[in-house]
Amino acid sequence: MSYSLLVRNCGQLLTLAGGPADRPLSGPALADWQILENAFVACEGEKIVAVGPMAALDEARVTAATQTLDAAGGVVMPGLVECHTHLVFAGNRAHEFQRKLQGESYLDILAAGGGILSTVRATRAAPEAELLANALRHLHDFRRYGITTLEAKSGYGLDCDTELRLVRVAREAGRRQPVRVVPTFLGAHVVPPEYWGRAADYLDFLAADVLPALQGEAEFVDIFCEEGAFSAAEARRYLLRARALGFGLKIHAEQLHDLGGSAMAAELGAVSVDHCDYLNPTDAARVAAAGITVAVLLPLVPLFLRQEKYAPGRQLIDQGVPVAVSTDFNPGSCPSKNLWLALSMACLKMGFTPKEALAAVTLNAAWALNLAAEIGSVEVGKQADLLVLDVRDYQEIPYWLGENPVREVVIGGQRQNLSDH
Ligand SMILES: [Zn+2]
Repeated sequence: MSYSLLVRNCGQLLTLAGGPADRPLSGPALADWQILENAFVACEGEKIVAVGPMAALDEARVTAATQTLDAAGGVVMPGLVECHTHLVFAGNRAHEFQRKLQGESYLDILAAGGGILSTVRATRAAPEAELLANALRHLHDFRRYGITTLEAKSGYGLDCDTELRLVRVAREAGRRQPVRVVPTFLGAHVVPPEYWGRAADYLDFLAADVLPALQGEAEFVDIFCEEGAFSAAEARRYLLRARALGFGLKIHAEQLHDLGGSAMAAELGAVSVDHCDYLNPTDAARVAAAGITVAVLLPLVPLFLRQEKYAPGRQLIDQGVPVAVSTDFNPGSCPSKNLWLALSMACLKMGFTPKEALAAVTLNAAWALNLAAEIGSVEVGKQADLLVLDVRDYQEIPYWLGENPVREVVIGGQRQNLSDH
Protein backbone atom coordinates (compact mmCIF):
# COMPACT_ATOMS: atom_id res chain seq x y z
CA MET A 1 0.00 0.00 0.00
CA SER A 2 1.36 3.41 -0.91
CA TYR A 3 2.08 6.13 1.60
CA SER A 4 -0.47 8.93 1.61
CA LEU A 5 2.11 11.49 2.78
CA LEU A 6 5.90 11.44 2.78
CA VAL A 7 8.11 14.07 4.40
CA ARG A 8 11.56 13.56 2.91
CA ASN A 9 15.04 15.06 3.28
CA CYS A 10 14.64 16.01 6.93
CA GLY A 11 18.08 17.42 7.83
CA GLN A 12 17.33 16.77 11.49
CA LEU A 13 14.25 14.77 12.45
CA LEU A 14 13.50 15.48 16.12
CA THR A 15 11.70 12.25 16.96
CA LEU A 16 11.40 12.73 20.75
CA ALA A 17 11.60 8.93 20.80
CA GLY A 18 13.77 6.74 22.98
CA GLY A 19 12.53 7.55 26.47
CA PRO A 20 10.24 5.61 28.80
CA ALA A 21 6.77 4.84 27.39
CA ASP A 22 4.93 4.85 30.69
CA ARG A 23 5.77 8.27 32.11
CA PRO A 24 6.81 11.76 31.04
CA LEU A 25 10.46 12.59 30.41
CA SER A 26 12.29 13.76 33.52
CA GLY A 27 15.85 14.36 34.68
CA PRO A 28 18.52 13.45 32.08
CA ALA A 29 15.86 11.73 29.91
CA LEU A 30 14.39 15.16 29.11
CA ALA A 31 17.31 15.72 26.74
CA ASP A 32 18.11 12.09 25.93
CA TRP A 33 15.89 11.54 22.91
CA GLN A 34 16.71 10.67 19.36
CA ILE A 35 17.50 13.00 16.47
CA LEU A 36 17.78 11.30 13.07
CA GLU A 37 19.83 13.01 10.37
CA ASN A 38 18.86 12.93 6.68
CA ALA A 39 15.63 11.15 7.49
CA PHE A 40 12.03 10.66 6.35
CA VAL A 41 8.58 10.30 7.91
CA ALA A 42 5.87 8.35 6.06
CA CYS A 43 2.16 8.41 6.85
CA GLU A 44 -0.95 6.49 5.92
CA GLY A 45 -4.10 8.43 6.58
CA GLU A 46 -3.78 10.12 9.94
CA LYS A 47 -1.01 7.91 11.32
CA ILE A 48 2.77 7.69 11.07
CA VAL A 49 3.71 4.31 9.58
CA ALA A 50 7.47 4.57 8.99
CA VAL A 51 10.36 6.69 10.24
CA GLY A 52 14.02 6.28 9.36
CA PRO A 53 17.08 7.40 7.43
CA MET A 54 16.48 8.29 3.75
CA ALA A 55 18.54 5.25 2.73
CA ALA A 56 15.91 3.00 4.35
CA LEU A 57 12.91 4.55 2.54
CA ASP A 58 10.79 1.93 0.77
CA GLU A 59 10.49 3.66 -2.62
CA ALA A 60 7.95 1.07 -3.76
CA ARG A 61 5.42 2.67 -1.43
CA VAL A 62 5.99 6.14 -2.87
CA THR A 63 3.56 6.32 -5.78
CA ALA A 64 1.55 8.84 -7.75
CA ALA A 65 -0.94 8.74 -4.85
CA THR A 66 1.70 9.91 -2.35
CA GLN A 67 1.83 13.58 -1.45
CA THR A 68 5.45 14.52 -0.88
CA LEU A 69 6.79 17.30 1.29
CA ASP A 70 10.47 18.02 0.75
CA ALA A 71 11.97 19.36 3.97
CA ALA A 72 15.08 20.35 1.94
CA GLY A 73 17.44 19.73 4.84
CA GLY A 74 15.35 21.61 7.39
CA VAL A 75 14.37 20.50 10.89
CA VAL A 76 11.24 18.32 11.14
CA MET A 77 9.56 17.72 14.48
CA PRO A 78 6.23 16.80 16.09
CA GLY A 79 3.49 19.44 16.16
CA LEU A 80 3.57 21.68 19.21
CA VAL A 81 1.25 20.75 22.06
CA GLU A 82 -0.09 23.82 23.84
CA CYS A 83 -1.18 22.41 27.19
CA HIS A 84 -2.44 25.51 29.03
CA THR A 85 -4.59 28.23 27.44
CA HIS A 86 -7.64 30.27 28.33
CA LEU A 87 -8.85 30.24 24.73
CA VAL A 88 -12.45 31.41 25.03
CA PHE A 89 -13.15 34.96 26.19
CA ALA A 90 -14.57 38.27 25.00
CA GLY A 91 -12.83 41.65 24.81
CA ASN A 92 -9.26 42.27 25.86
CA ARG A 93 -7.45 44.07 28.66
CA ALA A 94 -5.26 46.48 26.73
CA HIS A 95 -6.73 49.25 28.93
CA GLU A 96 -5.01 47.68 31.97
CA PHE A 97 -1.61 47.50 30.29
CA GLN A 98 -0.75 51.10 31.15
CA ARG A 99 -1.88 50.60 34.77
CA LYS A 100 0.47 47.63 35.00
CA LEU A 101 3.31 49.70 33.57
CA GLN A 102 2.64 52.33 36.23
CA GLY A 103 3.16 49.72 38.91
CA GLU A 104 -0.24 48.25 39.82
CA SER A 105 0.07 44.54 40.49
CA TYR A 106 -2.12 41.73 39.18
CA LEU A 107 -3.70 41.31 42.62
CA ASP A 108 -4.20 45.13 43.04
CA ILE A 109 -6.11 45.28 39.77
CA LEU A 110 -8.16 42.20 40.69
CA ALA A 111 -9.04 43.68 44.10
CA ALA A 112 -10.27 46.85 42.36
CA GLY A 113 -12.76 44.81 40.28
CA GLY A 114 -10.58 44.72 37.19
CA GLY A 115 -8.45 41.90 35.89
CA ILE A 116 -10.32 38.63 35.50
CA LEU A 117 -13.56 40.27 36.59
CA SER A 118 -13.57 42.75 33.70
CA THR A 119 -13.15 39.84 31.28
CA VAL A 120 -15.96 38.01 33.11
CA ARG A 121 -18.33 40.95 32.54
CA ALA A 122 -17.46 41.09 28.83
CA THR A 123 -17.68 37.29 28.42
CA ARG A 124 -21.05 36.95 30.17
CA ALA A 125 -22.46 39.65 27.88
CA ALA A 126 -21.06 38.21 24.64
CA PRO A 127 -23.24 36.16 22.27
CA GLU A 128 -22.10 32.58 21.74
CA ALA A 129 -21.38 33.28 18.06
CA GLU A 130 -18.95 36.05 19.02
CA LEU A 131 -17.12 33.79 21.50
CA LEU A 132 -16.85 31.10 18.84
CA ALA A 133 -15.55 33.54 16.23
CA ASN A 134 -12.90 34.78 18.68
CA ALA A 135 -11.83 31.23 19.54
CA LEU A 136 -11.58 30.28 15.86
CA ARG A 137 -9.47 33.34 15.09
CA HIS A 138 -7.07 32.50 17.94
CA LEU A 139 -6.89 28.84 16.84
CA HIS A 140 -6.00 29.98 13.34
CA ASP A 141 -3.11 32.00 14.77
CA PHE A 142 -1.99 29.08 16.95
CA ARG A 143 -1.97 26.77 13.94
CA ARG A 144 0.37 29.15 12.09
CA TYR A 145 2.75 28.83 15.04
CA GLY A 146 2.67 25.06 14.59
CA ILE A 147 0.32 24.19 17.44
CA THR A 148 -1.53 21.01 16.50
CA THR A 149 -3.18 20.24 19.88
CA LEU A 150 -4.39 22.85 22.35
CA GLU A 151 -5.97 22.73 25.78
CA ALA A 152 -8.73 25.33 26.31
CA LYS A 153 -9.93 26.32 29.76
CA SER A 154 -13.24 27.90 30.63
CA GLY A 155 -13.24 30.31 33.59
CA TYR A 156 -14.50 33.70 32.41
CA GLY A 157 -18.16 32.93 33.09
CA LEU A 158 -18.19 31.98 36.78
CA ASP A 159 -21.88 31.12 36.55
CA CYS A 160 -23.51 27.90 35.38
CA ASP A 161 -24.85 29.08 32.00
CA THR A 162 -21.76 30.96 30.88
CA GLU A 163 -19.30 28.30 32.04
CA LEU A 164 -21.23 25.59 30.16
CA ARG A 165 -21.28 27.89 27.12
CA LEU A 166 -17.48 28.33 27.26
CA VAL A 167 -16.87 24.58 27.32
CA ARG A 168 -19.39 24.15 24.48
CA VAL A 169 -17.65 26.85 22.43
CA ALA A 170 -14.24 25.21 22.97
CA ARG A 171 -15.63 21.87 21.75
CA GLU A 172 -17.35 23.44 18.76
CA ALA A 173 -14.18 25.35 17.87
CA GLY A 174 -12.34 22.02 17.92
CA ARG A 175 -14.85 20.55 15.47
CA ARG A 176 -14.70 23.47 13.03
CA GLN A 177 -10.95 23.54 12.30
CA PRO A 178 -8.06 21.06 12.34
CA VAL A 179 -6.28 21.87 15.65
CA ARG A 180 -7.30 19.28 18.27
CA VAL A 181 -8.94 21.10 21.22
CA VAL A 182 -8.99 19.59 24.72
CA PRO A 183 -11.54 21.34 27.00
CA THR A 184 -10.83 21.94 30.68
CA PHE A 185 -13.33 23.31 33.18
CA LEU A 186 -11.92 26.19 35.22
CA GLY A 187 -15.11 27.48 36.82
CA ALA A 188 -12.98 27.76 39.97
CA HIS A 189 -10.90 30.58 38.46
CA VAL A 190 -11.80 33.21 41.08
CA VAL A 191 -14.79 33.73 43.38
CA PRO A 192 -17.47 35.61 41.39
CA PRO A 193 -18.98 38.81 42.85
CA GLU A 194 -22.20 36.89 43.65
CA TYR A 195 -20.22 34.71 46.11
CA TRP A 196 -17.70 37.17 47.54
CA GLY A 197 -16.60 36.05 50.99
CA ARG A 198 -18.13 32.60 50.39
CA ALA A 199 -15.50 30.73 48.39
CA ALA A 200 -16.45 27.34 49.84
CA ASP A 201 -20.11 27.88 48.91
CA TYR A 202 -19.12 28.73 45.36
CA LEU A 203 -17.08 25.51 45.05
CA ASP A 204 -19.99 23.52 46.49
CA PHE A 205 -22.24 25.05 43.85
CA LEU A 206 -19.78 24.14 41.06
CA ALA A 207 -19.37 20.60 42.31
CA ALA A 208 -23.10 20.00 42.78
CA ASP A 209 -24.64 21.92 39.86
CA VAL A 210 -22.05 22.32 37.13
CA LEU A 211 -19.59 19.40 37.19
CA PRO A 212 -22.27 16.73 36.63
CA ALA A 213 -23.39 18.56 33.46
CA LEU A 214 -19.81 18.47 32.12
CA GLN A 215 -19.16 14.74 32.28
CA GLY A 216 -18.08 13.73 28.79
CA GLU A 217 -17.80 17.40 27.79
CA ALA A 218 -14.64 18.52 29.62
CA GLU A 219 -11.60 16.26 30.09
CA PHE A 220 -10.10 18.06 33.07
CA VAL A 221 -11.11 20.14 36.07
CA ASP A 222 -8.75 22.93 37.13
CA ILE A 223 -8.70 25.40 40.03
CA PHE A 224 -6.73 28.60 40.77
CA CYS A 225 -5.09 28.04 44.16
CA GLU A 226 -3.84 31.49 45.15
CA GLU A 227 -4.34 34.30 47.63
CA GLY A 228 -7.47 36.15 46.52
CA ALA A 229 -8.79 32.96 44.84
CA PHE A 230 -8.92 29.53 46.58
CA SER A 231 -6.89 28.02 49.42
CA ALA A 232 -5.11 24.66 49.18
CA ALA A 233 -7.66 23.09 51.55
CA GLU A 234 -10.58 24.36 49.43
CA ALA A 235 -8.84 23.22 46.26
CA ARG A 236 -8.20 19.76 47.70
CA ARG A 237 -11.82 19.20 48.65
CA TYR A 238 -13.05 20.39 45.24
CA LEU A 239 -10.52 18.33 43.25
CA LEU A 240 -11.48 15.21 45.21
CA ARG A 241 -15.10 15.74 44.20
CA ALA A 242 -14.07 16.26 40.58
CA ARG A 243 -11.93 13.12 40.65
CA ALA A 244 -14.85 11.10 42.02
CA LEU A 245 -16.89 12.23 38.99
CA GLY A 246 -14.18 10.90 36.66
CA PHE A 247 -12.42 14.12 35.64
CA GLY A 248 -8.66 14.42 35.26
CA LEU A 249 -7.17 17.06 37.54
CA LYS A 250 -5.11 20.20 36.97
CA ILE A 251 -4.25 23.13 39.22
CA HIS A 252 -2.92 26.69 38.92
CA ALA A 253 -0.57 26.81 41.89
CA GLU A 254 2.45 28.65 43.30
CA GLN A 255 2.06 31.44 40.73
CA LEU A 256 2.35 34.38 43.12
CA HIS A 257 2.65 32.73 46.54
CA ASP A 258 3.63 29.35 47.97
CA LEU A 259 0.37 27.83 49.27
CA GLY A 260 1.30 24.17 48.80
CA GLY A 261 -1.19 23.54 45.99
CA SER A 262 1.25 21.80 43.64
CA ALA A 263 2.31 19.05 46.05
CA MET A 264 -1.29 18.58 47.18
CA ALA A 265 -2.59 18.16 43.62
CA ALA A 266 0.30 15.87 42.60
CA GLU A 267 -0.60 13.60 45.50
CA LEU A 268 -4.19 13.49 44.21
CA GLY A 269 -2.84 12.28 40.85
CA ALA A 270 -3.19 15.54 38.90
CA VAL A 271 -1.91 15.33 35.32
CA SER A 272 -0.32 18.74 35.77
CA VAL A 273 0.50 21.47 38.27
CA ASP A 274 0.79 24.77 36.45
CA HIS A 275 2.89 27.94 37.02
CA CYS A 276 5.15 26.76 39.91
CA ASP A 277 7.04 30.08 40.06
CA TYR A 278 7.08 29.86 43.89
CA LEU A 279 7.32 26.06 44.19
CA ASN A 280 9.81 25.22 46.97
CA PRO A 281 12.32 22.34 46.71
CA THR A 282 10.58 20.19 49.34
CA ASP A 283 7.27 20.35 47.50
CA ALA A 284 9.05 19.89 44.17
CA ALA A 285 10.38 16.59 45.49
CA ARG A 286 6.80 15.58 46.32
CA VAL A 287 5.73 16.41 42.74
CA ALA A 288 8.68 14.39 41.39
CA ALA A 289 7.71 11.45 43.60
CA ALA A 290 4.22 11.38 42.07
CA GLY A 291 5.97 10.29 38.85
CA ILE A 292 3.34 11.28 36.29
CA THR A 293 2.42 14.82 37.29
CA VAL A 294 3.90 17.37 34.90
CA ALA A 295 4.91 20.83 36.13
CA VAL A 296 3.70 23.17 33.38
CA LEU A 297 5.91 26.27 33.39
CA LEU A 298 4.65 29.49 31.84
CA PRO A 299 7.58 31.88 31.33
CA LEU A 300 5.66 34.52 29.35
CA VAL A 301 3.49 35.26 32.41
CA PRO A 302 6.19 36.69 34.71
CA LEU A 303 7.55 38.52 31.66
CA PHE A 304 4.20 40.17 30.98
CA LEU A 305 3.46 40.82 34.67
CA ARG A 306 6.94 42.33 35.10
CA GLN A 307 7.68 39.81 37.82
CA GLU A 308 11.32 39.10 38.68
CA LYS A 309 10.64 35.55 39.80
CA TYR A 310 10.45 32.73 37.27
CA ALA A 311 9.78 29.07 38.01
CA PRO A 312 13.04 27.33 38.96
CA GLY A 313 13.10 25.19 35.82
CA ARG A 314 16.72 24.03 36.09
CA GLN A 315 16.24 23.01 39.70
CA LEU A 316 12.97 21.19 38.90
CA ILE A 317 14.62 19.27 36.06
CA ASP A 318 17.59 18.36 38.26
CA GLN A 319 15.17 17.19 40.97
CA GLY A 320 13.47 14.86 38.49
CA VAL A 321 10.21 16.78 38.07
CA PRO A 322 8.74 16.25 34.57
CA VAL A 323 8.29 19.71 33.05
CA ALA A 324 6.32 21.17 30.15
CA VAL A 325 6.22 24.73 28.81
CA SER A 326 3.16 26.61 27.60
CA THR A 327 2.07 30.18 26.86
CA ASP A 328 -0.92 30.40 29.27
CA PHE A 329 -2.57 32.43 26.48
CA ASN A 330 -5.20 34.66 28.17
CA PRO A 331 -6.27 38.30 28.05
CA GLY A 332 -4.79 39.30 31.41
CA SER A 333 -1.38 37.83 32.09
CA CYS A 334 -0.25 36.53 28.68
CA PRO A 335 -1.86 37.83 25.49
CA SER A 336 0.71 35.90 23.40
CA LYS A 337 0.22 32.77 21.32
CA ASN A 338 3.91 32.49 20.51
CA LEU A 339 4.93 29.19 22.10
CA TRP A 340 8.32 29.52 20.36
CA LEU A 341 8.94 32.66 22.40
CA ALA A 342 7.93 30.79 25.56
CA LEU A 343 10.42 28.06 24.60
CA SER A 344 13.19 30.65 24.23
CA MET A 345 12.25 32.25 27.56
CA ALA A 346 12.41 28.85 29.25
CA CYS A 347 16.04 28.71 28.10
CA LEU A 348 16.84 32.32 28.99
CA LYS A 349 15.02 32.63 32.31
CA MET A 350 14.55 29.10 33.61
CA GLY A 351 17.80 27.39 32.64
CA PHE A 352 16.48 24.88 30.09
CA THR A 353 18.76 23.61 27.33
CA PRO A 354 17.28 23.83 23.81
CA LYS A 355 16.73 20.05 23.71
CA GLU A 356 14.96 20.08 27.08
CA ALA A 357 12.76 22.97 26.00
CA LEU A 358 11.75 21.13 22.82
CA ALA A 359 10.64 18.09 24.84
CA ALA A 360 8.70 20.45 27.11
CA VAL A 361 6.51 21.76 24.26
CA THR A 362 5.90 18.39 22.62
CA LEU A 363 5.99 15.03 24.41
CA ASN A 364 5.79 16.28 28.00
CA ALA A 365 3.03 18.73 27.07
CA ALA A 366 1.16 15.74 25.63
CA TRP A 367 1.62 13.98 28.98
CA ALA A 368 0.12 17.03 30.68
CA LEU A 369 -3.03 16.31 28.62
CA ASN A 370 -2.87 12.55 29.09
CA LEU A 371 -2.41 12.19 25.31
CA ALA A 372 1.17 10.94 25.11
CA ALA A 373 0.09 7.62 23.62
CA GLU A 374 -1.25 9.49 20.57
CA ILE A 375 0.79 12.65 20.07
CA GLY A 376 3.98 14.46 21.07
CA SER A 377 6.62 12.43 19.22
CA VAL A 378 7.40 11.16 15.72
CA GLU A 379 6.95 7.42 16.12
CA VAL A 380 5.18 4.68 14.21
CA GLY A 381 1.54 4.46 15.33
CA LYS A 382 1.23 8.05 16.50
CA GLN A 383 -0.88 10.78 14.92
CA ALA A 384 0.88 12.37 11.97
CA ASP A 385 1.16 15.86 13.50
CA LEU A 386 4.36 17.27 12.02
CA LEU A 387 6.16 20.55 11.47
CA VAL A 388 8.70 21.39 8.80
CA LEU A 389 10.81 24.30 9.99
CA ASP A 390 12.85 26.95 8.24
CA VAL A 391 15.95 26.19 10.32
CA ARG A 392 18.59 23.52 9.75
CA ASP A 393 19.68 22.89 13.34
CA TYR A 394 17.44 22.53 16.39
CA GLN A 395 19.68 24.89 18.37
CA GLU A 396 18.51 27.73 16.12
CA ILE A 397 14.93 27.29 17.36
CA PRO A 398 15.28 29.14 20.68
CA TYR A 399 18.01 31.36 19.26
CA TRP A 400 15.89 33.30 16.74
CA LEU A 401 14.06 35.06 19.56
CA GLY A 402 10.39 35.71 18.88
CA GLU A 403 10.48 34.32 15.32
CA ASN A 404 8.08 31.72 13.99
CA PRO A 405 10.21 29.02 12.31
CA VAL A 406 7.23 27.09 10.89
CA ARG A 407 7.22 26.43 7.15
CA GLU A 408 4.71 23.57 6.96
CA VAL A 409 2.16 22.11 9.37
CA VAL A 410 0.67 18.62 9.05
CA ILE A 411 -2.23 17.64 11.33
CA GLY A 412 -3.50 14.06 11.29
CA GLY A 413 -1.68 13.43 8.01
CA GLN A 414 -3.22 16.51 6.34
CA ARG A 415 -0.96 19.26 5.05
CA GLN A 416 -2.35 22.58 6.28
CA ASN A 417 -2.91 25.72 4.28
CA LEU A 418 -1.56 28.33 6.66
CA SER A 419 -2.95 31.33 4.82
CA ASP A 420 -6.64 30.33 4.82
CA HIS A 421 -9.23 31.81 7.12
ZN1 LIG B 1 -3.74 29.85 33.33
